[in-house]
Amino acid sequence: MLDIDWEKAEASISGEVLSAAVEALQDVLGVEHVKSLPGDVDVLSRSTLPQSRRPSAVVYPSTAEEVAAVVGIARRYGIPLWPCSRGRNWGYGSATPVVGGSVVVVLERMDRILEVNDELAYAVVEPGVTYRQLRNHLEAKHPELWCDCTDGTPQGSVIGNALDRGLGTTHYADHFATLCGLEVVLPTGEIVRTGGGVPGCKTWHTHKWGVGPYAEGLFSQSSLGIVVKAGVWLMPRPEAFVSFTFDLARPETLPELVDIIRDLALTGVVTSAVHLINDVVSLAVMSQYTPDQLRRFSRLPEEELAPMRAHFGIARWSFGGGLQGRRAFVRAAKRELRRRLAPLGRLVFVDDRTIGLVRRLLVWRQNPLWRGPVDWAVRAASGKSPEMLAAAPEIHDVLKGVPSDYFVRHAYFKSPLPKPRDAHPDRDGCGLIWFAPIVPMTGSHVRFMVDLCEAEFKAFDFDFYVALLIQNPRSMIVLTAIFFLKDDPVQCDRAAALYGSLSRKTADAGYQSYRVSTAGMTTLSEKNPEFFEMMSRIRRAIDPDGVLAPGKYGFR
Ligand code: ADP
Repeated sequence: MLDIDWEKAEASISGEVLSAAVEALQDVLGVEHVKSLPGDVDVLSRSTLPQSRRPSAVVYPSTAEEVAAVVGIARRYGIPLWPCSRGRNWGYGSATPVVGGSVVVVLERMDRILEVNDELAYAVVEPGVTYRQLRNHLEAKHPELWCDCTDGTPQGSVIGNALDRGLGTTHYADHFATLCGLEVVLPTGEIVRTGGGVPGCKTWHTHKWGVGPYAEGLFSQSSLGIVVKAGVWLMPRPEAFVSFTFDLARPETLPELVDIIRDLALTGVVTSAVHLINDVVSLAVMSQYTPDQLRRFSRLPEEELAPMRAHFGIARWSFGGGLQGRRAFVRAAKRELRRRLAPLGRLVFVDDRTIGLVRRLLVWRQNPLWRGPVDWAVRAASGKSPEMLAAAPEIHDVLKGVPSDYFVRHAYFKSPLPKPRDAHPDRDGCGLIWFAPIVPMTGSHVRFMVDLCEAEFKAFDFDFYVALLIQNPRSMIVLTAIFFLKDDPVQCDRAAALYGSLSRKTADAGYQSYRVSTAGMTTLSEKNPEFFEMMSRIRRAIDPDGVLAPGKYGFR
């Protein structure tokens, strides 16, 4: 077993052992695919968390066999590994490990789309394949198929996000649910296939359960294997698609709205992901602290927020979603949404034609002569700001599963840097931690959790960013983000303290997180020791040396 000081979550590895291991890794992967110089490791160990652990090296294998060889070397030298696909796990720890001194295994060179099956609507991909890459490939070669994406970076990995049970934007939003048939390198170096992955089996990527115990879940949010290939289900391009946005008129009716959304989801009217967001989320995407606000506030007071809301035309609560399928279904679903939602606020449907018009308006706006009249007309017709107009095509497209850099710019809300085109919060020193408890989807549970979190954010003096996401028709994720100034040690400490307090209070109230950052993993076992003991026994059987991602999701 590895020698790990769990108080500090550091692996004890001597300099000589590390040098010998790096040499062995270079022999297998080539010198250029092993980064161990301090400068290189510095860059690769950045994250948006207040603190993260530093790896000892970062390696880039390109085949399953190379991954197996890396595992063999790690076992021989007693060095823990931390696998990731693209490492864009921003706000959850990026590519950094729970245990310092681990070797991070980045699978970005394994970026082949191995198969697309048009008839059965699935692809088989390697972990380095990104959302943008898959979408571009489908648009070019298989235009009758769509894939889902997240509203995070287009450079995120399809497999990486799914393994951490990330959520997307369409009716295929539950990403782990769309994986089918995995190839996995075990911590002992063996390569196994799950489900129907026996040689010659025809249903490997069409039938999730295989026969016998279902094992794919063992490789999600776990440290039991490195996934090197997976089937991912795709959706046929729908005959009709419209997106909608809804602004809630009175914030106090939020619980009522949640109950309606649940009913619409349970009855199959709304099948896409729904992102019900508060004003701070919209502001974080479209705007950011001014230098003066950065100097004066850790949390924007209502006197600052109110004029910003008015300027952008932002409601306290709003949400968007997509309707897709046969024309008749979309027509009927629109009618039902109007009937259920119109009494509570303002509902707007948008189709491709409207978005075409919006794009033309945005081009006209670039001409200084036209800008004023266009802005006036937009405000008069919709009550929305030009910034909201610019957001419309982005929202419409992402709800179709087209990835975009637009939304992830929220990470720069509290950054002194202007929002860049190619958002990269690690590179740009943004401070962001996701805290994401999940609740039964009833108005009262959501109200309770939103109030609990809001009070905590207030007590610790941070802006309350919350997005309510349908995980399934019975559960809602209360996704909150702590934005803090990463170069301010006082804010870093306070952000970490808020995260700790949120974790404790929500767990004490009987709620779990749907996904956890590396900062919160080591305490997960406290609430369910029997389950963690069982999982630890499985882990000891599969990973006798404890070499793979120790500490991940609480498993030592
Ligand atoms: P993305 O770049 O899509 O955000 P990451 O590569 O950062 O995804 O991975 C997200 C999480 O999933 C991390 O906790 C990582 O350890 C785990 N993970 C990612 N890819 C793999 C893989 N191929 N095998 C095992 N675990 C993985």
